[in-house]
Amino acid sequence: MTTTKKAKKKGTEKRERTERRFEAESTHASRLTTLTGMAGGLALGAGVYAQWVREDPLSFAPYLVAAGGVALGGALFKTGAEPAKVRVGEAGVALEKGADLTRILWCDVERIALEGDTLVVRGKEATVSFRIDEQPKAAAWVVSEAQQRVPGVVGLSEKERERFGKPNDKDGEVVRVDELQIAGRNCRASDKPIAFERDARLCPTCSEVYLKDQVPKKCLTCQVDLGARAREV
Ligand SMILES: [Zn+2]
Repeated sequence: MTTTKKAKKKGTEKRERTERRFEAESTHASRLTTLTGMAGGLALGAGVYAQWVREDPLSFAPYLVAAGGVALGGALFKTGAEPAKVRVGEAGVALEKGADLTRILWCDVERIALEGDTLVVRGKEATVSFRIDEQPKAAAWVVSEAQQRVPGVVGLSEKERERFGKPNDKDGEVVRVDELQIAGRNCRASDKPIAFERDARLCPTCSEVYLKDQVPKKCLTCQVDLGARAREV
């Protein structure tokens, strides 16, 4: 038993993957939503008091109840539509909406561009986008990481990059990458399907996937030196 354990440890390095997680910053619009909600709650409360609690109900009380309810309901609805959280790191870019996570690995990113106020990360099968006024730090990290890992996909001018500035090491919250869907993909070198995650090896720079006995000297997607640097899932 001990020998097999030791043998496994000597194999390809299995290291924890991390990424940065960014919450949306409060913008003017979201602060206004909060204020509307609070005002709505107050109006609703006052209306309820004037209509049902007071001994002689005020004539405008029903309107106050209705208006308060509408404002509160609208604010609650808007809060529910709050922008998603953005994740950036070794495993590409991901958008987190409640329990849903849309992830695009760096090797699958085709283009990163600014469309108006929205940073758009277009992948082979999915697209992730978010507003740079709500997530300026995430935008800075997405562009900076992409520039180092897969520079060919970055389509932003210097002037566009100045709109969200440079990344800072203190930005966001560093979290672990929990899962990576690798099974079902094809090996980039042999095009053979990868049936089991234990047979897969990933490029540490762009997460391109290879069968463990097909790992090339240089990554075919990002051209980084690979060989023994390829990692387990
Ligand atoms: Zn690579």
